[in-house]
Amino acid sequence: MSAEPACPGCGAVAETEIGRAGVCHLWRCGCGLVFADRATWRDPYAGSDYYDPAHQPEQSYPLRITATERDRIGTVRRFLTNGRLLDFGGGIGKTALAAHAAGFSAVVLEDSHKAVVEGRAHHPEIEWLEGREMPHSIADGSLDVVTMFHVLEHLPEPGEVLRQIGRKLRAGGLLVIEVPNWGSHVRRLRGLRWEFVLDHHLNHFTAGSMKPLVEQAGFERCAVEYRRTFSINEAQPWKEPMKRLLCALGFGDILRCAFRKTAA
Ligand SMILES: [Zn+2]
Repeated sequence: MSAEPACPGCGAVAETEIGRAGVCHLWRCGCGLVFADRATWRDPYAGSDYYDPAHQPEQSYPLRITATERDRIGTVRRFLTNGRLLDFGGGIGKTALAAHAAGFSAVVLEDSHKAVVEGRAHHPEIEWLEGREMPHSIADGSLDVVTMFHVLEHLPEPGEVLRQIGRKLRAGGLLVIEVPNWGSHVRRLRGLRWEFVLDHHLNHFTAGSMKPLVEQAGFERCAVEYRRTFSINEAQPWKEPMKRLLCALGFGDILRCAFRKTAA
């Protein structure tokens, strides 16, 4: 019934409808990207704030950084150890706090009014910006690092946002992107019952399908890493070797890639 939608990654017309999950009619493009048909999709959070108590438990401040956020900034520090870092879609700001603790000048850009107002009140050591697009107040070429943790899968037009980010980063600047890993064996085993097939996940990436989309925005890839779901929050270091082994065997359900902005 529905017309074949254009791929938000490469622009080609997708030919394979792989199924329906909730409000998402999922298609797979020849480039490997799996995406929800925008013509039929409806935003489950339209008109509401994601951090309202209806959607998320209330936060208690001051926030405490966990192993997850330290691990995220650890990936940044493989390449850069200081400078101005903006966490795009930074939520309540935990990742930015970890960046600040590691010596970065940290900025949160976040669409949730509630998260920004509360964050600004409790954590003034971070710069808070409200919005879902890069603001004009950030000068072109002025950022050293942009991070996007669990953001790219939510964006209706990921390529346009990546081009905006490319303009704000300096040449040689770093972009770190983390998303659920569609290429994981866990996803293959669970199919559309995989825990990351959600009404608000519009794009499903593998390392292979993310690479051309980001590189078209003026980047080159410098690292691919895998993690196991949020379990790094558990303070049980003895589990770490097992998690690393599972990731090496293809069971990492979190994909984290680092890119450098190529000289314009
Ligand atoms: Zn495509």
